[in-house]
Amino acid sequence: MSAKNLEEIVSLCKRRGFIFPSAEIYGGLQGIYDYGPLGVELKNNLKAAWWKSNVYERDDIYGLDSAILTQKNVFYYSGHESTFIDCMVDCKVCKKRWRSDHLIEGKCENCGSEDLMAPRAFNLMFKTTMGPLEDKDSYAYLRPETAQGIFINFKNIMDSMSPTLPFGVAQIGKAFRNEITPRNFIFRVREFEQMELEFFVPPEKAEAEKWLQYWVEEHLAWWKDQGLSENNLKLFLQPREQLSHYAKATVDILYRFPHGFEELEGISNRTDYDLGSHTQGQAELKITASVSINRDSTGKLTVKDPSGQHFLPYVIEPSAGLDRGLLAVLTEAYEEERLEGDKKRIVLKIKPHLAPVKVAVIPLKSNESALVEKAKIVQRSIQSMSIGRIAYENTGNIGKSYRRHDEIGTPLCITIDFDTVGKSNNRSNHNTVTIRERDSMKQTRIQLAQLNDYIESYFK
Ligand SMILES: [Zn+2]
Repeated sequence: MSAKNLEEIVSLCKRRGFIFPSAEIYGGLQGIYDYGPLGVELKNNLKAAWWKSNVYERDDIYGLDSAILTQKNVFYYSGHESTFIDCMVDCKVCKKRWRSDHLIEGKCENCGSEDLMAPRAFNLMFKTTMGPLEDKDSYAYLRPETAQGIFINFKNIMDSMSPTLPFGVAQIGKAFRNEITPRNFIFRVREFEQMELEFFVPPEKAEAEKWLQYWVEEHLAWWKDQGLSENNLKLFLQPREQLSHYAKATVDILYRFPHGFEELEGISNRTDYDLGSHTQGQAELKITASVSINRDSTGKLTVKDPSGQHFLPYVIEPSAGLDRGLLAVLTEAYEEERLEGDKKRIVLKIKPHLAPVKVAVIPLKSNESALVEKAKIVQRSIQSMSIGRIAYENTGNIGKSYRRHDEIGTPLCITIDFDTVGKSNNRSNHNTVTIRERDSMKQTRIQLAQLNDYIESYFK
């Protein structure tokens, strides 16, 4: 498969309403993007597919939506205040700033100079003040990962849901990292969304290894179900020296992005690092009483074994970037095809369940009221089936409408013509519509009375 061109994908995203640089009218904000009318649909569809697979189709995983603004102790005890750090270097010649681990050759990537300043440590968390008075203690953090929201609610979930090991807590939500050099469109950004699962298992090496392998296989299969092809995916076992401060082992699922193979999702064994750190934090701050209202009074983030002994479970964490997942889906789906003559078409061969628009209904002529009215009735009828967004398209140029919907990945176009409304001499075609399929461009006529059944089974 040939490498895809990032500029073409960025251009399509802007042109067709998927993704816009944020605050562009004021010159933009580096590493921040807004999702447009089609982008939000695609993003919601990808989130829904993840939630369905990781929460609804299982009995051992609970959902959560924790707050973005986070109390400072959480990130003190999680270790992020002291270790969630990148090193930056400045080029003395062209003044560009780099992440030191990105400058593999020890030279400035912009001008090639080796005259660089000494690396300086830099914490990636966004800090913000809370309350009307700014003083040294009135700050909170925008979370740099959704995971901590799960760990600090561990006891609440234990108390309210009474789960038994192994079980998981899933969360999709925004996270923020003050990246030194945001790059590659929505791949590395400062505000992004994560799809994270913390899966708690018995605290034994063999159990942790078994579940790590399990989640690598499950989520690799899930990405393939989203349309990513086998030869654009590979696994990478992170070497010990690259591991995050909380991880014992991490396997990355890499995707062949336009800029090369890079991480799409990381599956880590975080052991009992986080629950242990927060248990210790509570003990140090002597606030155990306030977190245990009337159940056990230890305040420990633990599980009890049959003999009543407390222990800290291990946790396996599959953590995926939603925005880079969306970029992977777009990259995989983007095709430029040669048609007969020297015509070409751009088509997004996206899976139907992810498509931002499911069906477009198009009257053959834009100024024939019988066709226009019928098309609107058909569109509303399909919309009421709740399979997603159904577009009514009335440009008056059927070829143009098809091209437009090829580019945004609409799987089916339905044309309403004079046969449909019984105003043609071809009586045998009365009350039929034409369905055009995006990938094959094949057109078939079916009875209007069968249309909704056809669509329902297509999107099943
Ligand atoms: Zn330079």
